Amino acid sequence: MVTLMNDSALGLILKEQDYKDNSVILTVLSEQYGKISLLAQGARKMTSKNRGSILPYTKGEFFFDYKENRTMFRMKSARTVNLYRRLHENLNASLTVPVLAEVIDAALLEDADPQLSRYCYQLFEQVCELLDQGRRADIVLAIALSDLLKLLGIAPDVDDCVLCGSTSVAAISVREGGFLCAPCAALHSVPLREPEKLRAFRLINKASLEHTEMLEEILGSALDECRILVEFLRTHAGLPVRSFALFQRMAEES
Ligand SMILES: [Zn+2]
Repeated sequence: MVTLMNDSALGLILKEQDYKDNSVILTVLSEQYGKISLLAQGARKMTSKNRGSILPYTKGEFFFDYKENRTMFRMKSARTVNLYRRLHENLNASLTVPVLAEVIDAALLEDADPQLSRYCYQLFEQVCELLDQGRRADIVLAIALSDLLKLLGIAPDVDDCVLCGSTSVAAISVREGGFLCAPCAALHSVPLREPEKLRAFRLINKASLEHTEMLEEILGSALDECRILVEFLRTHAGLPVRSFALFQRMAEES
């Protein structure tokens, strides 16, 4: 007897690409199965029942037949669990999620460690919730980028000089991987930074997303810190982080 399985998974839509015949391929970060691709056939047709449930950066429940050792499935149906409406209505917030979705999508390979996938899922969901609550996009992005660097094992060292261990720090070097003292900075032609900026960078790297509200009260714009953390991803993980350009442009204007 053939048993027809109808599996469902909760997931966050990281990306969607148009496919032939009005179809769409969704990249979904699912709670149970990690990163999967779902082919939503005819989803762009006016008559499709799934048309409204495949928006990027929303949380949904997806129905498909799961098969082990596969990562691409034909989607049967989907329903939206959380639209994160306020997030999508705010320009800065709506430009924050593509940056993190891009990094997570690029960092999670098909056979990614399930634990890493789970952490990324929790991180992305928490980011969407915080932005939907109206929390500041620059702070949320900075902390989330720092979390992703930790998950990838390339977090900046913000305790002392990465080269000599001196506790008297004066600069940040992306290439060397964190704080430098003044003599080491001079040796490597790294510009010195204000103590205030070093303190802000350290705070962001020591914080977790639960501290967002607290950091909003202490920190000015975290755009500089976001820039440095993106450079860490580019330099040490080889990720282009293309969508950061648009976020940066909007953040500079606001
Ligand atoms: Zn040093």
